[in-house]
Amino acid sequence: MNITAIRGFNDILPGDSDVFRLIESEAGRVFSSYGYSEIRLPVVEKTELFSRSIGETTDIVEKEMYTFPDRHGDSLTLRPEGTASAVRAYIEHKLYTLPVAKLYYTGPMFRCERPQKGRYRQFYQVGAECLGDDSPRADAEALSMLMTFFERIELKGATLQINSLGCARCRPAYKERLKAFLAGRVEGLCENCRRRVGANPLRALDCKGHGCIEATKDAPSIIESLCRPCSGHFDSVMAHLRLSGVEARINARMVRGLDYYTRTTFEIIAEGLGSQNAVAAGGRYDRLVAELGGPETPCFGFAVGMERLALIIREGVPVRPLGVFIALGSPAEEKGAALLKEWRDKGLKLIEDFSAGQLKNRMKRADRLGARYVVILGPDELGQGVVTFKDMASALQEKLPWDGVPGRVLQGTTGAVES
Ligand code: ATP
Ligand code: MG
Repeated sequence: MNITAIRGFNDILPGDSDVFRLIESEAGRVFSSYGYSEIRLPVVEKTELFSRSIGETTDIVEKEMYTFPDRHGDSLTLRPEGTASAVRAYIEHKLYTLPVAKLYYTGPMFRCERPQKGRYRQFYQVGAECLGDDSPRADAEALSMLMTFFERIELKGATLQINSLGCARCRPAYKERLKAFLAGRVEGLCENCRRRVGANPLRALDCKGHGCIEATKDAPSIIESLCRPCSGHFDSVMAHLRLSGVEARINARMVRGLDYYTRTTFEIIAEGLGSQNAVAAGGRYDRLVAELGGPETPCFGFAVGMERLALIIREGVPVRPLGVFIALGSPAEEKGAALLKEWRDKGLKLIEDFSAGQLKNRMKRADRLGARYVVILGPDELGQGVVTFKDMASALQEKLPWDGVPGRVLQGTTGAVES
């Protein structure tokens, strides 16, 4: 038997999981400081939820969803994103009775895409949704919150690209303009976009195919087609971003791969990822709640791709050092139990070595475990109320009083992942 994981479905190993935990815990900390509460959503939903919200003629629904019949013949789908589920839960649990619902979530999403660096079939997102606020200040606040989160995890060089997709009033006219523009360039479009151009010409702007990029290069700008309320909203978002010191670059080609967006849409692009360089994306979706059967509710939300963030920030993530404790003889083992409890309560990360045998071999085991230091308690140390403390990097050894161990270890390691 030779069972391996399915391609595109990754194990997140110790070390990397520290980075993921940092991302999740800092996101939780920052988002909750803006009044967001966590919502835990199921990973499977009825297929219809996604096809109706994301849109039948999007890449996600057309070719990326993991959809299967369950034992009763219902069509189920592994969630490709979190917004649809959050909106479903918002309606189902009548969260609209609140003046505003601010929710965040984290967890795996599933899309059947070609696996490559930064693109997987199971990937993790942390996302936030603000439901029930139509103010442009809500858009700017969410973006500023996202930038604060990136600051906290020390992501550098992220740029915000922003656009507006208009609303039910002004978008149809833009669609027609774009359709007319594309009519003369159909030859250049990929097969997929050629087929969709009638129903959904905006998809051609989002397509990564060379022909489509070329054909849409001088396409009319959606920003210029916005109705007055939409362009007023957009200007106000930009003004509030400036006030909060968030730089944003307008990208009138950015239409996003999901159909539910209205007005503001955005992407955050990071350095060092190659072509999979978007680390976060989202926008306003003012029609979705009503379309799924709830009351008219203007909303703004976004999702962050955790793998892509982890690829960038992993080098800089502080990890609390691992120690190995070695007791020599039963009296030291007994005292050691009390000391270990005390030190672990203070936040030290310690493995007790239960192997017998020569100290030399036990030290080798500690090294192979990746210990940054070893604490030895033998009969002599026990008598003197000290331990022998060995720094594995410098090989320096010193005697430390028992209560001096946490301070020695934790010097300079505050803000470590586990806190
Ligand atoms: P892309 O243009 O890179 O395909 P997207 O527009 O499909 O991204 P969204 O659906 O908006 O992405 O998801 C938000 C974020 O989730 C993306 O910016 C990215 O960081 C991450 N993401 C999306 N798809 C994947 C994937 N298959 N593997 C890893 N991360 C992903
Ligand atoms: Mg995609």
